[in-house]
This record gives sequence, C-alpha cells and structure tokens, in this order.
Amino acid sequence: MQDVTVLPHGVSKGNFLKAITEFREIVGPEYVKTDDEHIIQYTKIMVPDDEAKHTPSGILAPASVEEIQRILAVCNKYKVPVWTISTGRNLGYGSAAPATRGQMVLDLRRMNKIIEVDAELCYALVEPGVTYKQLYDYIHERNLPLWLSMPLPSAIAGPVGNTLDRGVGYTPYGEHFLFSCGMEVILANGELLRTGMGGIPNSNTWQVFKWGYGPYLDGIFTQSNFGIVTKMGFWLMPKPPVYKPFGVQFDNEADIVKIIDTIRPLRIANVIPSPVWVSHGLWDVAVMNKRADVYGKPGRMPDDVAEALIRKQGIGIWNVFTALMGTEEQVAVNWKMVEGAFKALGGKILVEEDVGDDPVFQYRKSMFSGTPTLREFGMYNWRGGGGSQWFAPVAQARGSETLKQMKMCKQTLDEYGIDYTAVFIVGWRDMHHVVDLLYDRTDPEEMRKAHDCYAKLLRQFAAEGYGIYRTSIAFMDEVADTFGPVKKDVNRRIKRALDPNGILSPGKSGIHI
Ligand SMILES: Cc1cc2nc3c(=O)[nH]c(=O)nc-3n(C[C@H](O)[C@H](O)[C@H](O)COP(=O)(O)OP(=O)(O)OC[C@H]3O[C@@H](n4cnc5c(N)ncnc54)[C@H](O)[C@@H]3O)c2cc1C
Repeated sequence: MQDVTVLPHGVSKGNFLKAITEFREIVGPEYVKTDDEHIIQYTKIMVPDDEAKHTPSGILAPASVEEIQRILAVCNKYKVPVWTISTGRNLGYGSAAPATRGQMVLDLRRMNKIIEVDAELCYALVEPGVTYKQLYDYIHERNLPLWLSMPLPSAIAGPVGNTLDRGVGYTPYGEHFLFSCGMEVILANGELLRTGMGGIPNSNTWQVFKWGYGPYLDGIFTQSNFGIVTKMGFWLMPKPPVYKPFGVQFDNEADIVKIIDTIRPLRIANVIPSPVWVSHGLWDVAVMNKRADVYGKPGRMPDDVAEALIRKQGIGIWNVFTALMGTEEQVAVNWKMVEGAFKALGGKILVEEDVGDDPVFQYRKSMFSGTPTLREFGMYNWRGGGGSQWFAPVAQARGSETLKQMKMCKQTLDEYGIDYTAVFIVGWRDMHHVVDLLYDRTDPEEMRKAHDCYAKLLRQFAAEGYGIYRTSIAFMDEVADTFGPVKKDVNRRIKRALDPNGILSPGKSGIHI
C-alpha cells in the first residue's frame, strides 16, 4: 500500500484506502499514485498561494471513457473528489494543482488520440491529452493546408484544456471557445452527454454545426465543474495563400489611446482579421533581460527608468503586432488601409521585407500563424523565483479605457513594488488587459505582496465595473463574488442538480455544492 499524505476533506483513511484499491483495479496500479514524489509534480504552482492549500490526495491517470465512468462510481461511493486536467499546463492560473486541498488529480494526458482531422470541412476532433504540438505535427506530416490557433505555451499545452478555461490564441480563430464545435462530456453520475448535433445517433454534423437543438449547453462545461470533457471538436483555419505579419512601434505611453482607437474599426470590420497584440515595452524588456542586470532597486520600476531601458533596446514604448491574410489582392487592399492608418499616427511600421530575420519579429510571426514556440517564457528570468499570477481584466476596445486601467494598475503595483509588465490584446470589441504579476516565489514576503496586490486590483477593478476573463486557483471564490450572488447561486443550483456529491473539481470558478 502506498503512503497517504493528504486525505480528501471528510473522507476517513479507511474509506480512502478502499477507494484507492478500487481505482487501481480500474486503471492499473501504475496509474494511481498517492506518494509525495508524484504528488509534488502536481503541486508546483506559480501563483501566489501556499502550496499546502492545493496539495492533491493523489493522481489518477485513466486511458478511456469507460475507465472514467468506473472511477466516478467509486468517487460517488466514497465521496472522493477528482480535479480534471487535460494537459495540465495552466501556468499562472494554477498549473495542474486543484483549487482546494485533498482532491485526486484526474490527469487525462494518456487520452491523447487525434480522432479526426477533416481537411475539407476544416475541423478536428481530439481527446483531452492531445497537445498543440502533436496536432501541429500531424497536420504538417500530412501536408494539410490548415492552421491551428494556440496560446503562447503552445508546444506543451493542448486545445481541450485551453478552450475549457476559455483561453485565447492569435490567428483569426483566436477566441478558442467560439471556434469549438461539439463536446463529449461525462457527467458526475457517469452518463455520457454529446452536445450539439452529437445527440443524434450516427450524426455527421457534430463538428460542423454548433447549436444542436434546445438550450446550447457547451458553455456550462467551460470554466466550470459540471462535467469531464472527453472529446472536443473545433474548427481549423484554411491556410491563407498570403500571410503578412507586421508590427508598429510607438514612442510615447499616451499613444495607446490613439493606437486602440485606430485598431478598433479595422478589427471590428475584419480588415485586420487577427487579434491585435499591443505590448508595453517593459513586457518585451522583461522577456529579454534579468531585472537585476538592468535595475537593482526594489519597488515598481519608475516610468522614466523603464522608458529609458525600452528605448535602449530599440523597441517601442508600445509594440503592436498582428497580421493580414487572404489572397494577394485582398491583402494589398487591406494593407493600404492599415498602413495609411498607422502612418497617420506616426508609428514606425515593421514588415518582414525590412526587418528580415529579426528574432522578435520572427517569433511573433510564428505566434500569429499558430506555430509552436516558447519564447515568452523568458519573462520568468526577469524577477527569477518562478512566481506569476495573471491579472486579466476585460475592457471595451476604446482608447480611453486603456489609460484608465493602466493608471489604476500602476497605482496598486506601486504599493506592492511590482512592475507593470502588460499587454492589451484586442479581440473584436473587447480587450484583455493582461498584466503578469511577476515575483520571486521563493521569497515569502514577495509572495504575500503578489497575493495582496492581485486581491486589491480585483476589488478596485470590480468597484469600477470591470471583471476579469479568467482566474487562478488562488482567487476563484473572490472572482466569483465579483460577478454577483445570483450568478453564484445559479451555478450552485446547477452543480447540485448535476453533481450532488460534489465529486467534480470542487471550488473550480468558485462553484461549490
Ligand atoms: C508565458 C505564458 C504565456 C501564456 N500565454 C497564454 C495565452 O496566450 N493564451 C492563453 O489562453 N493562456 C496563456 N497562458 C496560460 C496557460 O498556460 C494556457 O492557457 C494553457 O493552454 C492552459 O493549460 P492547458 O492547455 O494544459 O490546460 P489544462 O491545464 O489541462 O486545463 C485548464 C483548466 O481547464 C479545466 N479542464 C481541463 N481539462 C478538462 C476536462 N477534460 N474536463 C473539464 N475541465 C477541464 C480545469 O479546470 C483545468 O485547470 C500562458 C502562460 C504562460 C506561462
């Protein structure tokens, strides 16, 4: 019998050991772990919270739908909760660790079949353990004229987990949940639900028509704990004949207002088909440098110091990046409009013909065409110590919002001595204002400050009417509170109806029974 370090809440040791024995019979002993050595790999978090609050009771790695159904029968019998991960790279949001201590992590990495890629209708159907890299290789080995959209940790993360947490990528299909089509979900009682057209036996439209009949259910299985998704379909983009990535640099912080007001109409009209990345220069400086090498003092880096550093690196105070695509004629027409608009603002336009193989340009070119890279991880050398918590409020895509949100952020970051490393990502009508709170996780005082800083930002932004698009295991209850008691109560009522024993990912998105 293996060691037991952490018991699930309210479960006796005797019952837990019985559950473990039954889990082993289902998946085989090598796929059930409760010892420290294995648990520790699932407890490594970047977010500012005590690991002890998120330590799992063990790990379960099933290989099939049928094994999960049998696991859930055992979970219901002994009230042992499972925290589902697909590829488990939710970095800066909790990685693979559960929202609350004492859950079995249900690691679906072994379920990694690419079930179907249809190059005519341009869709894929995959299992949860499939990574973006795996799918990318599959498409390229077969020379299929298709593009993927992926988040920055592309190579190591996967479409099912990313989409279920409502993550984003950088091609025109970058709003990933919008482009998902059809899910297979195991409910807490073991029933298998296929959403959309998947309920019709032998349907061949599951991956081409999202809505099915009656209430559209897919949304309730994202950022939630109402089911375990075991298959997900999503649309792939046809590879465009012409791809024209470009950047524009701006030299003043206040330029952000006109930048966003210029992008908005071009983006809403789809003249620019992709999301638009507008990073503050300090973000790019942080990716390329260690803070201690360029600035030795504690406290938030003052704006004048940051601006001098940014200029020294030859980048903009704001760095726009996005891409046009289509036929040669389409790109030419749209480029005329886009180039004209950015020239009128006085930005420095960067196109491949001029910058050649500049590594930053080439990296962003890959990112905007769905090619796996991991360059952005350079961020974690800035402070060192592996601490990161994303603060990501949503804003209207209006210039005036940027200055307001930036000012609010900087005031609070000043209090806690954290740098403003941030990017505005313009979706369509919205922006995700993504601020990476970078801190040294090995220093308890820095961790406390990062934690309190996030909590204060959250309260302040909510008081001004702003919500965030996603959060980490450290703040799920607090964020749920910002969306109001009725939303919370509806979530709880759905949870009680679908999972009366509360065995699926308790605490996810602040949802408890
Ligand atoms: C430098 C850096 C850059 C980043 N950039 C981006 C970015 O551009 N865009 C972005 O979106 N994110 C980004 N991230 C955050 C994160 O790493 C990615 O979103 C990543 O894709 C999430 O991990 P995953 O795909 O392995 O999902 P997982 O960790 O497997 O899943 C995420 C969550 O979804 C739920 N879930 C997963 N699988 C299931 C299932 N089968 N059934 C039910 N619920 C499930 C769970 O609650 C889980 O915690 C970045 C992180 C870093 C460190």
